[in-house]
Amino acid sequence: MKVICADISLDADIVIAAIGIKPNSELAADAGIKLSVNNAIATDCMLKTSDKNIYAAGDCADAYHVVTDEKTWIPLALRANRAGWGVADNICGKVVELAGIAGTAVFKVFDLEVARTGLTLKEALKSGFDPAAVIIKTRSRAHAHPGASPIRIQMIGDKKSGRLLGVQMVGWEGVAHRINAAAVSLHNRMTVEAFSQTDLAYAPPFGPVWDPLLTTANQLLKKI
Ligand SMILES: Cc1cc2nc3c(=O)[nH]c(=O)nc-3n(C[C@H](O)[C@H](O)[C@H](O)COP(=O)(O)OP(=O)(O)OC[C@H]3O[C@@H](n4cnc5c(N)ncnc54)[C@H](O)[C@@H]3O)c2cc1C
Repeated sequence: MKVICADISLDADIVIAAIGIKPNSELAADAGIKLSVNNAIATDCMLKTSDKNIYAAGDCADAYHVVTDEKTWIPLALRANRAGWGVADNICGKVVELAGIAGTAVFKVFDLEVARTGLTLKEALKSGFDPAAVIIKTRSRAHAHPGASPIRIQMIGDKKSGRLLGVQMVGWEGVAHRINAAAVSLHNRMTVEAFSQTDLAYAPPFGPVWDPLLTTANQLLKKI
């Protein structure tokens, strides 16, 4: 493949365009509405902006993070959609307050599934937690089941409170939807210990007896 950009010409096997994103908040800013993180439109739990008669929803608006309780800007489809419904409900008189987001995200890079929820170690440190982290390598299927592939998981917990703060995972199978168990526990502000005691499903084609998330939580418990 030949890549021609301006006056540069390069031979390449693959081209990745990482152009970044920013909130489309100029209209709001011009109207004097308050902006917050990354210039996203500042909203409260009811999606109201700094003008009580104007609501904002979607990628243009901020949200509360359920782990830090601080404002954040993580523009993804579920939150955009949910906030749109929330605005409609509030305008129509049904009072809706949104809890916030955990920053749960999944994507596929070629055959690899990548997933995250909550905070990375760096984000946990920046948010004032006293974090500990473990990284483990485990398997997507039970030991005796053919076709298993490695799953790598990083889990972060807070040494002071024992809270689970975040999980990141990568592997060829069993990653994308496994992250959701961790996301639910973040919404419920669970400790790593409480999470390690949850009853997660097992059958040989889907994972080891001890789900990879439980094994990681057990290892993290030794550090917090
Ligand atoms: C390539 C790509 C892949 C993605 N994949 C995922 C994914 O896998 N999972 C996930 O959760 N999220 C994903 N997202 C993000 C997701 O698409 C967005 O979070 C979501 O669409 C935001 O919804 P929204 O309604 O806020 O904005 P949009 O969907 O962008 O809708 C805004 C609309 O407003 C219109 N508009 C803008 N300005 C004006 C104006 N002045 N007047 C009239 N109309 C206007 C636009 O044309 C557009 O139709 C992806 C985004 C991209 C770009």
